Amino acid sequence: MKSTSGYRIAVLPGDGIGTEVAAAGVAVLNALAPRIGRQFELQHHPAGAQHYLDAGVALPTATLDACRAADAILFGAMGLPHVRSADGTEIIPQLDIRFALDLYAGVRPIRTFAGLPSPLGDPRAAQIDLVLVRESTEGLFYARGRGVVEGDAVLDTMKITRAGTARVCDFALNLAQQRKARGKRGHVTSVDKANVFASMAFWRAIFAERAKAFPELSTEDAYVDAMALNLVMKPWAYDVLVTENMFGDILSDLIAALAGGMGMAPSADIGDRYALFQPAHGTAPDIAGQGIANPTAMLLSVAMMLDWLGHRDSDLALTDGARALERAVERTFADGAARPREFGGSSGTADITRAVIERL
Ligand code: ATP
Repeated sequence: MKSTSGYRIAVLPGDGIGTEVAAAGVAVLNALAPRIGRQFELQHHPAGAQHYLDAGVALPTATLDACRAADAILFGAMGLPHVRSADGTEIIPQLDIRFALDLYAGVRPIRTFAGLPSPLGDPRAAQIDLVLVRESTEGLFYARGRGVVEGDAVLDTMKITRAGTARVCDFALNLAQQRKARGKRGHVTSVDKANVFASMAFWRAIFAERAKAFPELSTEDAYVDAMALNLVMKPWAYDVLVTENMFGDILSDLIAALAGGMGMAPSADIGDRYALFQPAHGTAPDIAGQGIANPTAMLLSVAMMLDWLGHRDSDLALTDGARALERAVERTFADGAARPREFGGSSGTADITRAVIERL
């Protein structure tokens, strides 16, 4: 997979602040490359709502092919509120990529940073360090494009399969095991609504089956409504969470708030063969074009990409690079070198990017 000239990264900046934070990610990768002795061949490809307006297609086949040919995909954000399909839904090529490349595990890590205030008053908020794993290929999102309109009633179907649930539960359990080896708790919470839905009771049974293979981990089941409460009341009590697609969609925004907002929340969409890395936020049309988007989510996503590639190829230079980038972000905030606007500061995209690069 690795090309001879280094790692080939397909860059899909997309729309709105996606293009601004993608530029920040590229700048940091270019700054990091000589420091870790690796080359990144960064190839930009068009896709998104603006491309749909310009060229009539949101995700060109050539872009999807380039994603398949690359070592990893670095994705900005896509979608614009005024650009919609005939049925009223937004143009969301990231969902098409997830399905096309079978990126079934949506990985959403959240942590707090010294030097930045938490929206929670409890001092234990400083200990927040959890990862939400969202199933990304079925669940309620299976209904996308398949809604059945019957007069005044509309039916959207939730699909839960044994294979789809088993693989994402295994992913979360393996992740917890890797985290445990790095000193984390080794605890997995499966989030469902098994008291109401047959599909969710099925999910719960499969999680229990898969967890048997990980006796060194502690596991529990929780209802999604209780988790909405607990993730605000005591988020420091959680390590790895795994859940259905729609629940994961909602809870990942909730946990992003714990870290100070969408600009602080990285993510990865990982399958058995391909992986895509992107900030958890959208295109933020309200702040696009002003140079004020917080690039931290993107920079932490770049660190996740380096970590994934490093593990895939057993390339320590990349896993070390991931740690170096995380530490540079930590020091940027701990030193007070930059403060994003969501935290009452005035640092723009370029200020934060520059401060991180200085600390690499
Ligand atoms: P989507 O539906 O694609 O998730 P959205 O419009 O619902 O998109 P976002 O685009 O993520 O959500 O924006 C939600 C809020 O968070 C907005 O107020 C936006 O300005 C803010 N926001 C998102 N990303 C950032 C960022 N990187 N820096 C600062 N603020 C951000």
